[in-house]
Amino acid sequence: MGKGTQAQKLVAEFGFAHISTGDLLRGAIAAGSPLGLEAKGYMDAGQLVPDELVLSLLKERLASDDVKNGFILDGYPRNTAQAVTLDGVLAEMGKNLDAALLVAVDPSIIVDRLSRRRACKACGFTGNDTMEVCPRCGGEMYQRDDDKPATIQNRLDTYAAKTAPLIDYFKGQDKLVEVDGQAAADDVYVQVKEVLGL
Ligand SMILES: [Zn+2]
Repeated sequence: MGKGTQAQKLVAEFGFAHISTGDLLRGAIAAGSPLGLEAKGYMDAGQLVPDELVLSLLKERLASDDVKNGFILDGYPRNTAQAVTLDGVLAEMGKNLDAALLVAVDPSIIVDRLSRRRACKACGFTGNDTMEVCPRCGGEMYQRDDDKPATIQNRLDTYAAKTAPLIDYFKGQDKLVEVDGQAAADDVYVQVKEVLGL
C-alpha cells in the first residue's frame, strides 16, 4: 500500500503533523492567501508552481504549533535540488529530518496494476479489466491512454530518473530507510515503525 496510507497511520498513532505540499497549495488557494493567489496564477496558466513558492508555504506550515511533536513530509522533496534547499530551511528553523522513508514497490507490479485499470466512458468511474460494464451506471468501460503499458513505463522511467539521485542523497546522509511496499498495509506499517525506531 502507498505512502499516503502509511503517513496517515503514523499521524493517528503518534500525533505527527502530516504535511503534503499538494494539500498546502490547495489550502492556500481555497483560503485566497497572497501565496495561494500567486500559485493559482501559475496553475491557471498551465505552469508548474515554482519551488520557491512551495517552499514559502512549507516554511509557514513548519512554523505552526502542531509541528512540535514531529512532522511527516509526504511526497516532498521530489528531487535533489529540493532536498538541498529543504535542509537549509530546516537548519535555519533549528529543525532537521530524522529519516527519509522509501516505500519500495516493484515497477513491474505497478505496470501490471495500472494496465488493468478501466474507466467508464459515461461517468468516469474507475474500475478494472474484470468489469465488462460500469458497476455504477452500466456504461462502457475502456482503457485510458494514461493507463496503457507504454505510457506507464514512460512515467516510471521519468520517476526513477528523478528519484534515484534523491535516494543517493539521503543514503549519503545515512537517513534512508526502506520498507517493502508490496505487503498488506498493516504489515507495511509494522515495518515502517521498526525502521523508524518507533
Ligand atoms: Zn459509469
